Amino acid sequence: MFFSKSFIPILKNNPTEAKIKSHQLMLRTGMIKQSSAGIYSWLPLGFKVMKKIEQIVREEQNRVGVQEILMPTIQSSEIWKESGRYDDYGEEMLRIKDRQNREMLYGPTNEELVTEIFRSSIKSYKSLPQLLYHIQWKFRDELRPRFGIMRCREFYMKDAYSFDISDEEAIYSYNKFFISYLNTFKRMELSAIPMAADTGPIGGNLSHEFIILADTGESKIFTDKRIFEVDSSNTLLEKNSLSKLRENYEKYYSVTDEKFNNNEFEKNVPKDYRLQTKGIEVGHIFYFGDKYSKPMKASVDYNGKKEFVKMGSYGIGVSRLVGAIIEAKYDDKNEIMKWPISVSPYDCCILPIISKNDNSNLDKAINIYKNLKKLDLDVLIDDTDENISSKIKKFNLLGIPYQIIIGKNFNEQKIEFKEVDKQPIFIPLEEITKIIKSKKSN
Ligand code: ATP
Ligand code: MG
Repeated sequence: MFFSKSFIPILKNNPTEAKIKSHQLMLRTGMIKQSSAGIYSWLPLGFKVMKKIEQIVREEQNRVGVQEILMPTIQSSEIWKESGRYDDYGEEMLRIKDRQNREMLYGPTNEELVTEIFRSSIKSYKSLPQLLYHIQWKFRDELRPRFGIMRCREFYMKDAYSFDISDEEAIYSYNKFFISYLNTFKRMELSAIPMAADTGPIGGNLSHEFIILADTGESKIFTDKRIFEVDSSNTLLEKNSLSKLRENYEKYYSVTDEKFNNNEFEKNVPKDYRLQTKGIEVGHIFYFGDKYSKPMKASVDYNGKKEFVKMGSYGIGVSRLVGAIIEAKYDDKNEIMKWPISVSPYDCCILPIISKNDNSNLDKAINIYKNLKKLDLDVLIDDTDENISSKIKKFNLLGIPYQIIIGKNFNEQKIEFKEVDKQPIFIPLEEITKIIKSKKSN
């Protein structure tokens, strides 16, 4: 993509209405545009990042055997009356009437709808477990939408649902999501800690929130620092290995403020390991048994008896993650963003120094651009005649991890190559592509 033809509307200064760095950066680099309170359009740069996050989430769901579906955004109120949540959900639910005066709603979550889908087709325990997910827009009429896409009204969420015959099997399903969440966030170079959580209006008894540490987070957390050292890499997708993994995490005290108890904290965590800080919730998993299957009569045949299925639900804030990654990676003192390559809007950028009467650097840059495109790299080339220091300043904000700079002393054997947050090195193009390719395949 040529910068002069791209739709990346950059602002000169940080917008004053934005209070946290992710919101500032997203507006400043033209990733999003607010359309009304808590509702945003996604412009090319932001949309590319979100799509890459979505794809990682999808691959990691598929890897543990969850099947992708797509449910609509608009739901009928009938099923919500069956579960009893139509009244309970309150003002966060956006209620709509169609032309027949039927009560509809814009889905804030999908437990009811997926239960209805399940019960209409699955009749025998032999078809269990069923693990289903979709990635779809949600609407919650938040009392105070804020921090840009971090707490907005319309947001993009992956939500998954599990159906099992017994508590034991259901917990096995739960643990598959547990490992898949750890793997998902790891691929985005985030360290997300699973924390015991309250179950809130969704109800139930077993629940973890996945939290990324950040000063601007809205969740207060209390944790044993040793939890950061837990290694999940050799976990197998079978019952014992998965429950061992959860034990390894759960032996360390680690909770959000809703569950916090100071006596327990001090009793369980030696002084030097206590950490009290803030974090961003990027994922949340629940096990709630027959909370929905019972009122909605979702049962299967099991040895001649009807058994209500045991359910869990599992959310990831796909759009919130865009902001959460910025909160974790943006160095706002030096105004340098560095996207993890796995979600970066481009793999690499080329910044030629172009003067009014000399286009030769642009020609060299276009040549390199074509070579990189042939290797399937996604490249943004700055073909504008801005001076190089403002180009670098601009690209430091855009956060594309690798830069190629083409200036006066261009030499094919020693091309100026720079990681956005490091000093430049001078190497030939083959080595540059090797570095980028190997980082991408990690
Ligand atoms: P929160 O505690 O932040 O209000 P929640 O517990 O209501 O979130 P869940 O129902 O668990 O949210 O939703 C799953 C995920 O969806 C959350 O972990 C979060 O990442 C994301 N999410 C929830 N509400 C919003 C929102 N208003 N804006 C953006 N993302 C959201
Ligand atoms: Mg939650």
